[in-house]
Amino acid sequence: MAIPQSAKGDKPNLLGMTLPEMTAWFAAIGEKPFRAKQVFRWIHHFGVDDFAAMTDLAKSLREKLPQFAVIAPPKLMTEQASKDGTRKWLLDVGTGNGIEVVYIPEGDIPAGAKVKATDGAEAKAEGESGVVWADDESEAPVAGKQVPERQTRYRGTLCISSQVGCALDCTFCSTGKQGFNRNLTGAEIIGQLWWANRAMGRDPKGERLISNVVMMGMGEPLANFDEVTRAMDIMLDDHGYGLSRRRVTLSTSGVVPNLKRLKERCPVALAVSLHAPNDKLRDVLVPINQKYPLAELLATIRDYLEAAPRDFVTFEYVMLDGVNDSAQHAHELVKLVGDLPCKFNLIPWNPFPGAPYGRSSNNAIHRFRGILQAAGFVVTVRKTRGDDIDAACGQLAGQVVDKSQRTTVRLKQVAA
Ligand code: SAH
Ligand code: SF4
Repeated sequence: MAIPQSAKGDKPNLLGMTLPEMTAWFAAIGEKPFRAKQVFRWIHHFGVDDFAAMTDLAKSLREKLPQFAVIAPPKLMTEQASKDGTRKWLLDVGTGNGIEVVYIPEGDIPAGAKVKATDGAEAKAEGESGVVWADDESEAPVAGKQVPERQTRYRGTLCISSQVGCALDCTFCSTGKQGFNRNLTGAEIIGQLWWANRAMGRDPKGERLISNVVMMGMGEPLANFDEVTRAMDIMLDDHGYGLSRRRVTLSTSGVVPNLKRLKERCPVALAVSLHAPNDKLRDVLVPINQKYPLAELLATIRDYLEAAPRDFVTFEYVMLDGVNDSAQHAHELVKLVGDLPCKFNLIPWNPFPGAPYGRSSNNAIHRFRGILQAAGFVVTVRKTRGDDIDAACGQLAGQVVDKSQRTTVRLKQVAA
């Protein structure tokens, strides 16, 4: 079993190890395997990164461990809280690269609830209506109802990244325009959840406030398969974050061979970025379609659903003015997906400087949704959240113009 090393390559970073990997590592340093479970729980259950704080380990072991290993999360640069309850953390992953982690509350925020950031900033929630991509209908907020229990169940979705930049170059995506910088390690991926969980804490009943994780930040998760699945193992582990497979969603633009591997390795809930109803248009918007065209992608999804924890796929469809948002496109889409169990999430496009697109009008989005609904599909339209802290999903890479320097510049801006 290859045990992940720390970024410096000297001591392994326990943060990025799955429980079986950590168990093997403890055996390799001559310790009992159950020690791994204790340390794993300290790290992921209790958010501890200091061996000295692991009070149920023998003092001698607490002193031994730092000689052999580190617990090294990415460095926290800033934390922001939006008045709609959205929170955002900027993490430094070295060499001037920053990744943003966004928490989006699920459902109504109790009016007057205080949203506190660790930097001391505080915003007062105004009881805004919920986000639509809480794709668990059973838990969707009921308009106009304020269920008392919800007031303590202030839970939501964490949006995390899998790469710095992305090589797939979708034409409407600012991360794609940034180009590929590097894959994140398992420790850097789980480190995003680790930080956010530590900051958010638990509700008065002891439940974690992060109830769902979506891989919809920077990067194509299936292009970083090993590290992403390693991080997902930790998310799903009862001694880690204990999330069920249906509460972890992987969003992909359609890397077909690795989608097949995911079915075998770790079939979590699936979202697929469709964005076009035919190959001609998708070849342009999502260039990986030239390699894995729609027929192949849809057949692979159908197959995936046999193992998936949900019996449907969520299709994401970014709404681009005059490009993919006509009534004809909607009808074509209905025909394309046929009887494939799916729901649609329409995403009003988030603009960024220099992009050759515009956001579809509300009328166009309404018409598009109506056609899909009339054909019997469940359709949500993603609301933009955290506008005041620039945290809209799909816009996570910020606004720096120069391709190679964007994240570097961003960190400098933050530091200033
Ligand atoms: N690479 C993966 C996951 C990250 S992108 C994927 O493509 O699915 C997460 C979602 O944001 C995708 O559906 C993507 O198409 C969408 N997206 C990217 N740029 C966007 C933008 N500028 N406005 C709105 N959505 C965008
Ligand atoms: Fe990469 Fe996804 Fe952006 Fe396409 S939409 S460039 S796959 S991050």
